Amino acid sequence: MDCKEFQRMIPGFLDDELDVRALEIFLGHIESCKSCKEELTIQFLVETGTQSLEDGTNFNLSHELELVMNRAYQRLGTRKRLIKTAFFLQVLVVIEIVVAIALAFIL
Ligand SMILES: [Zn+2]
Repeated sequence: MDCKEFQRMIPGFLDDELDVRALEIFLGHIESCKSCKEELTIQFLVETGTQSLEDGTNFNLSHELELVMNRAYQRLGTRKRLIKTAFFLQVLVVIEIVVAIALAFIL
């Protein structure tokens, strides 16, 4: 993927519409790419900053953006754990089925 594609993902990122895989790739690229980080900052400023100006609230751009990034990492961590849990539960179900079939043969 090139920077253009990542920059097209920015609105989805800001609206929390990226799935786990996309979010992970996106965050990985943003951290290492200056121009995409800049683009994210600009779009974030346009989306959130203008809202804050209308509300008349104080707005610290770099701090706010940091919060957004931290929340995104937290979401990523939570979703990854959920996926692991779901996988674990599926494995458990499979084991139960195997045990049930084995018992049916034994009994
Ligand atoms: Zn880039």
